[in-house]
Amino acid sequence: MKTERSHDLFTRAQNLMPGGVNSPVRAFKSVGGEPFFVERADGAYLFDADGNRYIDYVGSWGPMIAGHNHPKVLEAVIGTARNGLSFGTPNPLEVTMAETITRLIPSCEMVRMVNSGTEATLSAIRLARGATGRNRIVKFEGCYHGHGDSFLVKAGSGMLTLGVPTSPGVPAGLSELTATLSYNDFEGATRLFDEIGGEVAAVIIEPVVGNANCIPPRAGYLQHLRDLCTQHGALLIFDEVMTGFRVALGGAQAVYGITPDLSTFGKIIGGGMPVGAYGGRADLMRQIAPSGPIYQAGTLSGNPVAMAAGLAMLELIQAPGFYETLDARTATLCAGLEAAAQDAGVPFSTNRVGSMFGLFFTAEKVETYAQATAGDTAAFNRFFHAMLEHGVYLAPSAFEAGFLSMAHDDAVIAATIEAAKGSFAELRA
Ligand code: PLP
Repeated sequence: MKTERSHDLFTRAQNLMPGGVNSPVRAFKSVGGEPFFVERADGAYLFDADGNRYIDYVGSWGPMIAGHNHPKVLEAVIGTARNGLSFGTPNPLEVTMAETITRLIPSCEMVRMVNSGTEATLSAIRLARGATGRNRIVKFEGCYHGHGDSFLVKAGSGMLTLGVPTSPGVPAGLSELTATLSYNDFEGATRLFDEIGGEVAAVIIEPVVGNANCIPPRAGYLQHLRDLCTQHGALLIFDEVMTGFRVALGGAQAVYGITPDLSTFGKIIGGGMPVGAYGGRADLMRQIAPSGPIYQAGTLSGNPVAMAAGLAMLELIQAPGFYETLDARTATLCAGLEAAAQDAGVPFSTNRVGSMFGLFFTAEKVETYAQATAGDTAAFNRFFHAMLEHGVYLAPSAFEAGFLSMAHDDAVIAATIEAAKGSFAELRA
């Protein structure tokens, strides 16, 4: 495989950008080696600067559910851009976007557009704190909610309820307000609420964890959190930046039948453009400026080109049978990978919710963060590189979910499973 141009770009980039990248996981630090630089993407494929083609299971980390460079999204972007890139005034596409989101996600009676998932989650917790008059938030080990200070926190070793920063630059005084629970642990959540329930502004959770590989909720777990929040006057925030419009048209809240107070979105709603959103109960959302006192704003929020891309994407995913087809194809992929691993004698299991999936180098079914992190990371890293050599790009970390798109047809899936047969065999060698 030729890699000269990517290597040259990475060498230059490392002197110009921290780690040579604009977002850490792209640097391949966890799998080792050097990243490839993509010049073009189409359907299920990425094409790099050296002319290599990869079947892509990252999908720009989630947005590309219809496949890369979908003509409908492209047309919408080009057509809208002809009218101007940004106005700094209200525009009609924002209204259509708000109508579309509130129709597809009934718990979102009102919505505010922002420019990233991080902005959405930051804004949602500010709203939760402002609306409840409480300061503490609760999150879960292995869940990622963007790089806001309040989220870069892990459980402290002493008091269960006092978090400590996971990044320099996060003030300890702020991290102490974030408590971290184990995902899928019913008892832990009950205990925490017994202790500090009256001080909790919000519980924020990825309803299906996609940032610690892929971990679905145990039966009744999200309802348990819903009940605790309701009993103690805390808000339940579903961070659906990844799961929204991914695991089902109505997101994870539709799959599990839970009504959160607030939800956050990103990725698919931008169709590949930088977009996020948060929404929820109207009585809460009306507390946001300018209708209420809780401040949040954005120069480019609701940008017309970004709204056009997102609306085109939301149109595509409403096609009859869209999710059924994607689900069936992802099931075929996961079953094929499991069979290939078994034939090669490699301990391996998968998790899947809709077209979001996780690959684990362990024989057990993974239901917790502790299990996910106990998997054989070295085996994953070797498998990742073997698959890359076979022309298949998986997320470059053992702790990320994978995504299928509508462009991953039967032939693409069959080619992936063939590549996996070779790669698993190489692991055993
Ligand atoms: N929340 C979740 C669940 C995410 O997966 C991500 C990003 O991967 C974010 C929030 C942050 O979104 P962004 O990277 O757009 O800031």
